[in-house]
Amino acid sequence: MVKNQRPTSSKLYLEAQELLVGGVNSPVRTFGAVQTAPLFVSRARGSRLWDVDGNEFLDYLGSWGAAILGHAAGPVIRAIQEAATKGTSFGLCHPLELRLAQKVCQWVPSVERLRLTSSGTEACLTAVRLARGVTGREKIIKFEGAYHGHGDSLLVRAGSGALAGGHPDSAGVPAWLAAQTLVVSWNDLPSLKEVFRLHGKEVAGIILEPVLANCGVIPPEPGFLEEVMELARQHGSLVIWDEVITGFRLGPAGAQGQWGLRPDLTTFGKVLGGGLPLGALGGRKEIMERLAPCGDVYHAGTLSGNPVAVAAGLAQLEELEKGGGYAILTELGELLEQGIREVLRGLPYPVCFQRCGSLFSFFFTEGPIRNFRDARRSDPKKFARFFAGLLERGILLAPSPWESSFLSVAHTENDVEWTVRMMGEVLRSL
Ligand SMILES: *Cc1c(COP(=O)(O)O)cnc(C)c1O
Repeated sequence: MVKNQRPTSSKLYLEAQELLVGGVNSPVRTFGAVQTAPLFVSRARGSRLWDVDGNEFLDYLGSWGAAILGHAAGPVIRAIQEAATKGTSFGLCHPLELRLAQKVCQWVPSVERLRLTSSGTEACLTAVRLARGVTGREKIIKFEGAYHGHGDSLLVRAGSGALAGGHPDSAGVPAWLAAQTLVVSWNDLPSLKEVFRLHGKEVAGIILEPVLANCGVIPPEPGFLEEVMELARQHGSLVIWDEVITGFRLGPAGAQGQWGLRPDLTTFGKVLGGGLPLGALGGRKEIMERLAPCGDVYHAGTLSGNPVAVAAGLAQLEELEKGGGYAILTELGELLEQGIREVLRGLPYPVCFQRCGSLFSFFFTEGPIRNFRDARRSDPKKFARFFAGLLERGILLAPSPWESSFLSVAHTENDVEWTVRMMGEVLRSL
C-alpha cells in the first residue's frame, strides 16, 4: 500500500464534510475528477504551494489562473496591506476604482465604460441581462463546454442536438429559462449559422470564451471568431466575450488583442482581482450606459469595487506591465510545448497537448481537440493516474481532465524543464 503522504489533509477533509457541504466551498476542490484526496493548503509563494502536511508543490493551478505573477507577489501584498489599513470596505466611491478602470480602458480598446463586480459569475450574468435589456430579446447562444459562471441562463451545456434549446445542468434552473439558451458546438460554423437562421431575430446575444478553457484548452479555428462576430452583427445580436480566464493573461488586451476584434461586451475576473474577489464587465459606452444608474438594467453590489480587491488587481496589472510579464509567459509556454512535444513523440499511445499562451491542457486521446465532444473522449482514468503521478513528484495541475492549467510569471525555465522531465517519466509509466 502507498503511504498516505497527506494525513493532515485527509483528516481535515473528514472534519470539513461535517461542516461544509461536501467539505468544500466550490465543487471541483474535492478532486473528485482525479480520484485523489483533496489538498488543504497552508501557504503559497511564487510558483510554489505547501499543503498542511508540509509537502511542497510546483503549482500550475495558480488559483485557477488568478495568480499570474505567482502567489503572494510583493507588489500585490504591499498594495493590499496599504489599502486594508485605510479601511476594508466603504460602500462608497474611492479614487483607486478610477485608476483600475483607466488601466482596463487603456489596455482593452473595446471597453469604453466599466462596471466592477465581485466575481466572474456576477459579471457574466449581468452581461447577459444587459444584452437582453438592450435588444429587448430573450434568447442567448452559448457554446457547449464553455463555462460562464453559475448564473441560471448560463448553466446550460447542451441538448443532444446543437439546434435544440438547452437543458439545465443544475436542478433549480427553470426549464423555461434554460430553453432560452441555445447551445452550439465550438468551432462549428454551419450549426451556428443554422441557429441564427432559425432564431436570429430572438437572439439577444452570443456569449463565448474566445479560447475555450473550461473543458481543456480549445482555441478557435482560423476565421471562426470573425465569423461569429459577423453573424451576430447581421442578426442584431450582441457579442459577449467572456475573458474571465483570457483577460490580462493572453496579453494586456486579452484574446481580443490577440485576434484584433472588438466585442460589444467583455467580462473579466481571475487575473483582474490579483487573487481577491473582483470581476468586471465593460464595453461600448452606449451599451454599458443602459446599466443603472444611467439606464434601466439593474446591477448593484455592496462590495462592488471593493478597495482592497481593486488595490490588489491594480498592483498586479501594473507589475505585469513593468516586469515584462507577457514576454516571460510566452517564453515559458513555448519552452513547455517544445519539451512536451518531444516527450509525446516517444509514447506508444496518443496524448494531445493543447496550449494557448500560458494556458495548457492534456487530452488522453487522439487530437486535435476541436470541441467539447472531442474533449470528452479524453480517458479520465489515464488523466487521473497522470495527475496522481505528478502530485507524488510535487507537481500540481488543475485537478480535472477538463480544466486548463496555468503558467505564471513566477515559474522559471528550470521549473518548466523539470516539469517536462517529470511529465515524461509519468507518461511513460501509464
Ligand atoms: C471562472 C470563470 C467564470 C466564473 O468566475 P467566478 O469568479 O468563479 O465566478 C466565468 N467565466 C469563465 C470563462 C471562467 O473561467
